[in-house]
Formats: sequence, structure tokens, C-alpha cells
Amino acid sequence: MKKSQNPARVRFAPSPTGYLHIGGARTALYDYLLARQTDGSFILRIEDTDQKRYVEDSEKDLKRSLRWLGLEWDEGPDKGGPHAPYRQSKRKAIYQQHARTLIEKGHAYPCFCSPERLDKIRKEQIAQDENPHYDQKCRNLDPEESVQRVENGEPHVIRFKSPNQGSTTARDSLRGEITVKNETLDDIILIKTNGLAVYHLAAMVDDHLMDITHVIRGAEWLPTFPIHTLIYDAFGWQEPEWVHLSLLLKPDGKGKLSKRDMEEARQKGQPIFVKDMEDFGYLPETVNNWLALMGWSYDDKMEFFPMNELIEKFSLEKLNPSPAAINFSKLDHFNGIHIRELEVDDFAHRIKPYFEKEGYEVDEEILTDVAAAIQTRTGKLTEVTDMAGFFFEEEVNLVPERIISGALSASQAANAARRMANLFNEVPVITRDTVEKPLRELADELDLKAGHLFGLLRETLTGQKVSPPLFDIMSILGKKEVLDRLDHAAETLEGISKSR
Ligand code: GLU
Repeated sequence: MKKSQNPARVRFAPSPTGYLHIGGARTALYDYLLARQTDGSFILRIEDTDQKRYVEDSEKDLKRSLRWLGLEWDEGPDKGGPHAPYRQSKRKAIYQQHARTLIEKGHAYPCFCSPERLDKIRKEQIAQDENPHYDQKCRNLDPEESVQRVENGEPHVIRFKSPNQGSTTARDSLRGEITVKNETLDDIILIKTNGLAVYHLAAMVDDHLMDITHVIRGAEWLPTFPIHTLIYDAFGWQEPEWVHLSLLLKPDGKGKLSKRDMEEARQKGQPIFVKDMEDFGYLPETVNNWLALMGWSYDDKMEFFPMNELIEKFSLEKLNPSPAAINFSKLDHFNGIHIRELEVDDFAHRIKPYFEKEGYEVDEEILTDVAAAIQTRTGKLTEVTDMAGFFFEEEVNLVPERIISGALSASQAANAARRMANLFNEVPVITRDTVEKPLRELADELDLKAGHLFGLLRETLTGQKVSPPLFDIMSILGKKEVLDRLDHAAETLEGISKSR
């Protein structure tokens, strides 16, 4: 913890409208880092007031993805906390009460305009090249008449009364002051006809009531940021520190990453959603490291950051407001580095599910040795089955076409396999020291190139053309299994030879 800093209270406030993607995960990570660094609190708040955009399952995915990344929250819907409930759909009465307060203070008003009227003025404004905005018709209604109409149950929304003159200055931590002319600000809706609050009211009220110290959110909120400042002001509340993160751009750097781009990238096998990262074989450590550097840097050199270093070194001052392009090759590069950093037992534990998913029955006794043999060669965890699945196969899937060639007939290959088995049978353990020289002599005797014989041995033991080093494989499989595999290969090749 940085002793100089007060404990931060930060919130990640996703709307359950889809799966957790790179952008959301980056926001959550920065929240988490600041909270942990200052010994503060990381709060999860579900912003589910927009029922039309609600996507089933997305809340489950958000939580699962945050947990996979290791970003455990301190207060939240399933955890409770001093400011429960943490789900906006359960806080309707709170927002309504606050909207009434704003009306009483003269900062908001009920608006009875019908959707048809609003649509009509909108079209007229567009035709006259104006930005669409509410024409403030209900702003100056007699307050008593308004109250009466509300009491009569007339459908209405509640709008914020933005100042019409002067200017408003909002202050973003990364961008400094942002000043707008008030005449450009719309009287935005705070409460919809159905009584539900919109983001502009709900999030401000919650951030205040939940004692949030830093609002870290996406750059898409910059246009309405001055209004948020005005809402705080209207209540007479002290503002949090506002941090609008950099936009994320498409990998080619051309334009913002849209929902459609995300789908396209996904089709290409690029992980856009956190849940894909796991399926595609990335470590959560990698993803956090990679996300952290998409808009933040420590210095120009350091790039490898385990979580504890991120917590220690992260700082809001070093966030960069310029748009950042998503760089997937960097993700791959980081993954290799983080994989090599793992303790071998840990690595073994991480790869096990990938074998199991492909239907392999993992032999725990050799798993750590297998892990050690492939750890430095693994770029993504999904590669381990191709590289080392053969260790856990009941019977090797031989590819005779790769073994039998002009230089080596099926019967010669069968004979070579039998001879190797005899040779191995005679040594107490199979190691480079005990068998390499005899194998080379055998190759001479059979009139084969040593490489050819080793190739045959590799195919016999693994069913693959490429594999981890042969002597590592044999020492992991053990003598009995090596002999069994040679025997199986010899039988198969003899069968082929007879049938020709
Ligand atoms: N619910 C908003 C969103 O998902 C949260 C924005 C914020 O962090 O204030 O975009």
C-alpha cells in the first residue's frame, strides 16, 4: 500500500448487456489495482436499469470473468456491504426520492410531452440542421399545475434543468478541464415514464451514496460528463475524481472497436471477451499484464508485470488518454513469458484441464514431468494437447505413411522397432547415456541413417513428426511403456508388410 494515499473506494459498474470484453475488463482491472494499492475497496455494482438491453447470462459471465482474472470485489450484489443493494433495479425508490429533491431545489421538472411530440420536434430540428434537443416546453410550467398533473397520474418523465446561459467546466484527471457552453446542454431525462432512473441520475446518486472516491470509466461518457458535474452541483455534493480512460481502437489502429468488429475478430480466433481468453489458452496473469499496458505504462522499458507488481506500480498519473490499438501479437508474446514464469507444478495444474477437455485421461504420476518437458515450448495452453497428448494415449496413433518410404519398407521398419526394443530391454533404465551409442551402432548395422532411426522411434512413441526431445519422452514414459509402444508399432508394421 502506498501510505501517502487515502484508501480509494472505486466501483466497476457494468450493465448486464453482454459478456465482459477487453474494454470492460481493463476498467475493472484499474479499479482493482487502485483499491488494492491504497488498501481501499473495490465495489461491483450492477447497472441494470435498462431492461431493454438486458442479456440473460451476462451477469453470470461478468462475475465469472472477473473472478478468472482474479479481480475479486469487496462489496457487491452477492456479497452485500454497507451500501447494499448493489443492483440498481433494487434501488428504484432511492432514485425517485433524489429526483424529487432535485425538483424541490428547482433543478429538475416533470415533462409531459408525448413521444409523438418529441419525435416531431426532433425531425424539425434535424431538418434545420440543429442538434436534436428538448425544446424545454414543460420547463416553465406552473409548478402547482405540474404537481397536479403528476398526482392525476399523467404519464411523464423527469428532466434535469440544465442552465441555459454561461458555461460549465468539468475536470478529468487525465485531460484537465473541459469547458462547454451551457446552451449546448440538453435537459436530459433522469427518470423515464416507467419510473426507472437512467444512468445520468442513478450512477451519480449511487457514486455519491457509496462514497466513491474515483470514477474510472470509458471515454464514451465524456460528452455527458459536464451534465454529471452539474448534477453533483445541483445536489450540493462533492465530486469524485473523474478518470475517463482512453478509447480502444481496432488492431489496425483505424477506428473504434465496435460491437461488429468484436464479432469479426472473434470469428478470426481473436479473443475479445474474457471468457474466450481462457478457451484460447491464455493465462489470467497474461491478460492482466496486457490489459494494464493498454493505456498505462510504468516507464518506457518495463513490460513484464505480475499482479503484485501491478498493484505496487500502478498510478493514475501514468494513464495515457490517447486512444490505444489492441495488439494481439503482444498478448501471445506475454503469454509465453508468463507461462515460463510459472512454477512447474502450477503449470501442470493449469494444463490439466486442457488435456481433459480433449478427452485425455491424465496420468497424475507423470503430469509434472510432462509439464516440465513442454513448459518452455508452450505459447498457449491450448497447444499442449498437440504437443504432449500422446503421453496419455492408451495406444499411439501411428501414421504408417510417414514411417514407410522408399528407404524403409514396412518389414524393415518393423524389424528396426523390434531391434530397438531388444536393445532397451537390456539396459536397466533408458537414458541418453545408456542407449544413444548403441542406437547409433544399430542404425549402422541396419544400414540406416541415425536420424532415420530416431525418426522411427519418435513416430513409434508419439505418433508425431515433431515432439519434445526423445530422451525426455522415454524417461517420462518409463521402460515398460516404451517397450509396449515399440511392440505395438512392430505389430502394426508387420501387419502392413504381410498385407502387401
Ligand atoms: N453502466 C455503465 C456502462 O456499462 C457504467 C459506466 C460507469 O462506469 O460509470 O457503461
